[in-house]
Amino acid sequence: MFLTVHSLGGIIIGQQTENIWLAFLTGIFFHFFLDMIPHGDDKIIVGKDGMDEKKNAILAFKMGAVDGLIMIGLLSGLYFFNLFSLSLAVIAAVIGSVLPDFITTLYILTKNKILKEYVSFHWKIHFAFSKSTVSIKTGMLIQVVFLFTFISIIKFL
Ligand SMILES: [Zn+2]
Repeated sequence: MFLTVHSLGGIIIGQQTENIWLAFLTGIFFHFFLDMIPHGDDKIIVGKDGMDEKKNAILAFKMGAVDGLIMIGLLSGLYFFNLFSLSLAVIAAVIGSVLPDFITTLYILTKNKILKEYVSFHWKIHFAFSKSTVSIKTGMLIQVVFLFTFISIIKFL
């Protein structure tokens, strides 16, 4: 899923605890959980073994950059309108919730062998619930639903 959606999940987690490590680790765990829900990303980025091909890597990189900017903009906006208060636990949970994708980016940049194992695990997790994925359109719709659900939860917590 997009970093924007993952980071909102992170805020919700960070709001539940004051324990920084618990927030961080739950953030990571929740990232993988969200990735198990079919969300169309795999239709945009198609790689044999994760993201091996250069083209896919560049596309993934560009998407990540735009997504990251949208995430920063949205989180700043939510904070500006007092929808959540910033705590160390919230920051830790948000970092944890986007970290799995940053490690994947690190692999794209370094092609590190150990990271390759991780990337293929991260990729496989996307198909844990269902082998068949959804179309890009359906996937985007699913992500928008999650986006607004998470914003509502953050607003009413
Ligand atoms: Zn992911």
